[in-house]
Amino acid sequence: MNCRHCNKPLTHVFIDLGHQPLSNSFLDKDQLSAPEEVYPLKVLTCSECFLVQVDEHKNASEIFNHGYVYYSSYSSSWLDHARRYTEMVVDRFGLGGSSVVVEIASNDGYLLQYMKERDIPCYGIEPSSATAMAAWEKGIESVTEFFSEELAARLARERGRAALIVGNNVLAHVPNINDFVRGISLLLDDNGVATLEFPHLMRLVDDCQFDTIYHEHFSYLSLRTVQRIFSEQGLCVFDVEELPTHGGSLRVFVRHDANDSKGISPRIGALLVKEKCAGMTTLHYYTAIQAKADIIRDNLLSFLEAKRVNGKRVAAYGAAAKGNTLLNYCGVGVELIEYCVDASPHKQGLFMPGSRIPVLAPTELYRQKPDYVLILPWNIKDEVVSQHSYIREWGGRFVTAIPRLLVDGEHQVGRSRHP
Ligand SMILES: [Zn+2]
Repeated sequence: MNCRHCNKPLTHVFIDLGHQPLSNSFLDKDQLSAPEEVYPLKVLTCSECFLVQVDEHKNASEIFNHGYVYYSSYSSSWLDHARRYTEMVVDRFGLGGSSVVVEIASNDGYLLQYMKERDIPCYGIEPSSATAMAAWEKGIESVTEFFSEELAARLARERGRAALIVGNNVLAHVPNINDFVRGISLLLDDNGVATLEFPHLMRLVDDCQFDTIYHEHFSYLSLRTVQRIFSEQGLCVFDVEELPTHGGSLRVFVRHDANDSKGISPRIGALLVKEKCAGMTTLHYYTAIQAKADIIRDNLLSFLEAKRVNGKRVAAYGAAAKGNTLLNYCGVGVELIEYCVDASPHKQGLFMPGSRIPVLAPTELYRQKPDYVLILPWNIKDEVVSQHSYIREWGGRFVTAIPRLLVDGEHQVGRSRHP
């Protein structure tokens, strides 16, 4: 495999998470008797541009098909994030009734609904027909295709170029990142701004967030590498914000190189220095995560096995992609976690890929009164704990596994993450 950005052969392993099914391939009851397809989940680092990447084993169109069941609007904190972003960007760039806003991977219209409320013309690009349909129900027009250079050229020709292009958690999910960025360059107006949010690779490494790795998440990005990828397409990253979302994300602000009306923020230089000081410009930085992930796996397994021996009941919360990576890497199944509750009715009644743990409605927690609830999407732990604090009424305890095993009311459990 060669680097999907600079084409250099990839020889350096970042982490090997074994063979796993696609993380969003939930199973129905009839599929439980059939074998599941698994693919290597091995991540490599490019020694030239430091793009950390997963090989494409499955065509993206097969991954994000009608069975793709992620609806953004089921997370109240994510909706709040989208609303605050809209206020900021409308104010900062003076968007109004004559601006065109395009969101790539617009999902169910979770963000564009706030643009629509302000009468700002907008449309989304969303290849998953089920989520695009949910957007239509909110009155948000969606182009149900994958974003690419070819689509961007057509949209620019037919609808005009955009004053704002939004891409949240999509840059890391496209197999052909160069083609995607060329598309942004074509669709963006001369004076336009694109903002993109993606998990920051520095947070992944420093907090051992190896569970954010899955086949659909092709690239793991630093500011330095993103700056290089955009620069090759005539685009300039002129500002950056560090966000707490998804365990620590970056929001980059991008314009055409030729548009010098927007100066480069000192935050760019400051973050590049921070990345360099962390070691991100040396290959050594990209070799330490495997040993930390193995310790997290061993600690979680010891904990779950001890609870089973003692007759304790353990449930999980949140059938998110990261939960599937964690459980499948650890080899956890229904013998250790009886069921997983999830707020999305689209997942309830299905089974998690690989682990085959059944997904139930959150009301099951109250009905079944488990002793422990393992929160899989640790990034929304506070939201989950405040909504389900009633489990403490029967002595139930919340547990998180990353960056280290933490059990409500107990000090650190298991071996230290630094052997
Ligand atoms: Zn490269």
